[in-house]
Amino acid sequence: MTGRASGDASGSADQNAWAAVPARLRANGLRWTPQRRLLLEVLAGTSGHVTGVELVERCRELDPGVIPSTVYRTLDVLEELGVVRHAHGVDGREEFHILPATDHGHLYCTNCHGAWEVGADEAGPLLKAIERTRGFRVQLSHLSIAGLCQACGESSAG
Ligand SMILES: [Zn+2]
Ligand SMILES: [Zn+2]
Ligand SMILES: [Zn+2]
Repeated sequence: MTGRASGDASGSADQNAWAAVPARLRANGLRWTPQRRLLLEVLAGTSGHVTGVELVERCRELDPGVIPSTVYRTLDVLEELGVVRHAHGVDGREEFHILPATDHGHLYCTNCHGAWEVGADEAGPLLKAIERTRGFRVQLSHLSIAGLCQACGESSAG
């Protein structure tokens, strides 16, 4: 997606994290296959937010034989290893974060389709209020809020 704000602190891939993945996959009973190697290469060259569909497309550009279910299964395991973390857009679609540094939620503008991150310091009061009144503990990484960004709100009010 173009025009997206991507403030992930993990902009450049940490080579050590990627180098450790093959051994960690094997430790989880998964074979190190060419398709998994390809996905790792694509992930290492990606920053910010990316959907599963986009990752499958990038892999298939490099190797048309890549099977989508293999990509999704591998992403599940990589999430358990902490190499990626998923969130959901307001349409429920999964978005992956590569080498996530900090937990955050997301704001989505329904007009310009921009996306912004909300950190724990900003979302904390809301999350604490919900836990206090309902005993419900919100997962910050699954907090997705739709609305109008400042620029779109001002132009529609104008
Ligand atoms: Zn989820
Ligand atoms: Zn907007
Ligand atoms: Zn994010």
